[in-house]
Amino acid sequence: MLNLIIFGPPGAGKGTQSEKLLSKYQLQHISTGDLLRAERSAGTELGNQANEYISKGELVPDTVVIGMVKNFMLSHPEAGGFIFDGFPRTTPQADALDVMLKEFQTGISIVLGLEVDEDELVKRLLLRGQSSGRADDQDESTIRNRFQEYQNKTLPLQGYYQSQGKYHGVNGIGEVEDIFGALCAHIDSL
Ligand code: AMP
Repeated sequence: MLNLIIFGPPGAGKGTQSEKLLSKYQLQHISTGDLLRAERSAGTELGNQANEYISKGELVPDTVVIGMVKNFMLSHPEAGGFIFDGFPRTTPQADALDVMLKEFQTGISIVLGLEVDEDELVKRLLLRGQSSGRADDQDESTIRNRFQEYQNKTLPLQGYYQSQGKYHGVNGIGEVEDIFGALCAHIDSL
């Protein structure tokens, strides 16, 4: 089973590259951001609660996100592997993922990090906000808050996966196809 984490700050291109990877490697996509937005559109209580955090650029509580990922995995027993996109974002989430994958008698195969500097990320997110309608992509102070959350809570996971020899960083600036090629090269060398 190939289980990969696509890692990086907001706007690094995780969603774009996940779409390409899942079709090439026949994987199931788990984007916690997409799942939370779907809950919000459906008007569920979970979605309404999550929106309080999303609109401020804060992380949704771990228990909510972990429960959602677990349900998703249990409802896709046929999956040949998963791409985790936007998850894990905290140490408790990474620990919970290890436990969940162990229950599936598998583990994380590789962590691919898209590396992009902050000025470029802000430009990309503001541009995306114009077409996506995502409120959290339209306001620069919310975007800066998301980076702060990333620095404080998510970036430490890079070291966690590096110490296991699983982290591979790729330059996330350039042509989509070139970045995709660099990601595939890491996967194919497993
Ligand atoms: P994304 O689409 O991945 O940029 O996520 C949008 C927002 O959803 C984030 O700013 C968080 O508020 C929330 N979110 C998504 N994934 C997670 C996660 N793994 N843990 C906590 N909050 C999350």
